[in-house]
Parts: sequence; C-alpha cells; structure tokens
Amino acid sequence: MVFYALCVTAELENLTDLQPLGGCSDPEYAYYFKVKCENCGETSQKEACVTLSDSFQLPTGRGTANLVQKCKLCGRDGTIQMLPGHGEPLTLQQSQSGSEAMLMVFDCRGFEPIDFSFGNGWKAESTSGARFEMDLSEGEFVEYDEKGECPVGISNLRASFKVVKKHERAGKTTFV
Ligand SMILES: [Zn+2]
Repeated sequence: MVFYALCVTAELENLTDLQPLGGCSDPEYAYYFKVKCENCGETSQKEACVTLSDSFQLPTGRGTANLVQKCKLCGRDGTIQMLPGHGEPLTLQQSQSGSEAMLMVFDCRGFEPIDFSFGNGWKAESTSGARFEMDLSEGEFVEYDEKGECPVGISNLRASFKVVKKHERAGKTTFV
C-alpha cells in the first residue's frame, strides 16, 4: 500500500480556510480524480468519484474500500480507502507563503491517484468573517464581501497527490 495526500494551494484574496462544505472529512464530499494502474501504467479515461460515505466490498471478500475498480487494460484490481481526520483547510497565510494544505489522505493499493478535479461544494471565510460557498469547477471564484467591503476571490488553483509516510507516536497517527 502507498499513502497519497491530496495537497492544494491557490491564490486567495481576502479569504481563508478553503475546504469542502462539510469540512475536510465531509462524508458526502465527492473527490474526483483519475487513477493510474501500478501494474501496467494505464490511466483511467473516466474520473473516479470517491466519497467517504460510499464503501464497496473488496474483491477478496474481506473488508471494504471507498473505491474498488478493475484496470481496463490488464484487469488488475485496485482499491482506494480514504483516511479522514488528517486534513486541514487552506489558510490565507499558506496561500501567501506559497505552501500547500493537505486535505485528505488516501490509502492506495494497485492505483496511483492523479489529476484531481475541483468541483462544486467548497467554502471559505472572508477576513471580515463572512462565509462564502463556491463552485470551483471553473477554476476560480470572484465575489464582493459586503460586510468587509472588499473583493474576495480564488484563482490559480492547483492540486497534486504526494506520497506521504505514516508515523505513529504516542497513539497518534500522522502523515508527513
Ligand atoms: Zn493495468
């Protein structure tokens, strides 16, 4: 198994704490991305849609995963299980320093996740405290914050999957 972290960054204008509507561990938030077969290197043509609330029986019959799929080329089974509770929203400070926020960790067997797509169902907070909900499928967001009397926006969205290692210390699990 390999652990992949979904890391995102963007240019935030007077906004902070960009994350899925129900938070990073939102059981209903659908993560869309393609998968690459570790056996033959084939990339799926269709994006996989993975949510915490969906679980499927493993081919072995023992246990479940959030995604169970067969490679169309070589027929090898691959599974992906999400590990909630390790994600954090993207803050204005991170955006300004050019660093990334880790939103979710995926335990991947047989597949490598690639090409994450930003969709609908995101939220962020203005520096005035006003809350905004947005659809990021167009890759950006522009609005005016009446309360703070300033423009707010999101642009230059970027996402990548990075290999992370599991660390266990004093009963606490972290991924770095
Ligand atoms: Zn394959």
